[in-house]
Amino acid sequence: HPAVNLDEVTTLAFWMTFKCAVLNLPFGGGKGGVAVDAKALSRMELERLSRGYMRAIADFIGPEIDIPAPDVYTNPTIMAWMSREYNRMKGNNTPSVITGKPVALGGSLGREDATARGGYEILHDLAERKGLKPEQTTVAIQGYGNAGFHIAHLLHADGYRVVAVSDSRRAFYCEEGIDPEAVQAHKDAEGVVGPVKRQGDRLVEVSHREITNEELLELDVDILIPAALESVITTKNAGRIKARYILELANGPIVFEADSILKSRGVTVFPDILANAGGVTVSYFEWVQNRTGLYWSLEEVHQRLRERMVGEYRKVEAIAAADDLDNRTAAYVLALRRLREAIESLGTKEYFEPTGK
Ligand code: NAD
Repeated sequence: HPAVNLDEVTTLAFWMTFKCAVLNLPFGGGKGGVAVDAKALSRMELERLSRGYMRAIADFIGPEIDIPAPDVYTNPTIMAWMSREYNRMKGNNTPSVITGKPVALGGSLGREDATARGGYEILHDLAERKGLKPEQTTVAIQGYGNAGFHIAHLLHADGYRVVAVSDSRRAFYCEEGIDPEAVQAHKDAEGVVGPVKRQGDRLVEVSHREITNEELLELDVDILIPAALESVITTKNAGRIKARYILELANGPIVFEADSILKSRGVTVFPDILANAGGVTVSYFEWVQNRTGLYWSLEEVHQRLRERMVGEYRKVEAIAAADDLDNRTAAYVLALRRLREAIESLGTKEYFEPTGK
């Protein structure tokens, strides 16, 4: 992203530590970035940049050190270029150094929609236990990239009414609900989301209202899904949020001070370090498969992801209920307990105190 900076990368690395701890993955935290407008580069420039970035970081990463995974403006081809460059430099084939690779080059089935699917599993579990009926539940999604499109697709398939979506250039409200595939086809063709449905092999416009990205956040919907940028819900607009549930697929979409406003208004937030951890979880699965050389079916990936997401979500929920905490604080409590246990396993102050023997 052109605006990426050291502060942001440091924060993302911090979140990654907690994300891995919440999901109980055997990784720590790290992150990297290149400040560049990737959209302005040709394919060849993008390949040279990706390979050059790998040459710069190759000595600091490795399957047992630090394993890069995809994020904003990367795709499987970019991950493959970096993986190939690393292997070329080291003179061997080590697919486990990078995740998010194309399936033909050692990627995992199910990585493409893993971030959205992880969040979806939380909503699915919530809906079953709270008796939410998909047909009567409306959803607004900010951002229509990897996370935003796939969550729209998964919820729509279950019968949820996705009534508003946006990207960096356009946002619209569609009372009858959008057709995610048609909206994506419009984005592929025109480079921007559009309020369309499929009629035969044509895309036709449906009744809609143009809105702004800010208005999208304040719509009267049941579920709001920020899936684009950080810091979009602040103390300025938190008081106007009408959604009952917020699923944070983006990293850091709600600023710290807005959390308490949302809590006092009875909004349940599923925090980023839990809600969007499906991506790093399937990256972990990819690493496991690369290391064992045994590849799983899509069903197996989905089942393992479901078990992990729902299992850890329920632990977060139990901590929240026991101590009257919001989900974010409870997720940090769960992560900190695990980090503490790991650190204390090397001996606490008490452990090193003289025993008198
Ligand atoms: P992406 O590059 O695939 O898509 C980003 C989307 O956001 C695009 O549709 C873009 O048009 C839209 N966008 C950009 N600026 C916007 C604006 N001002 N208003 C509205 N929309 C805007 O990225 P992604 O992988 O979907 O990531 C989205 C968020 O999810 C990020 O915060 C990312 O860190 C987080 N996330 C992604 C993954 C993953 O595996 N892809 C994992 C964890 C978290």
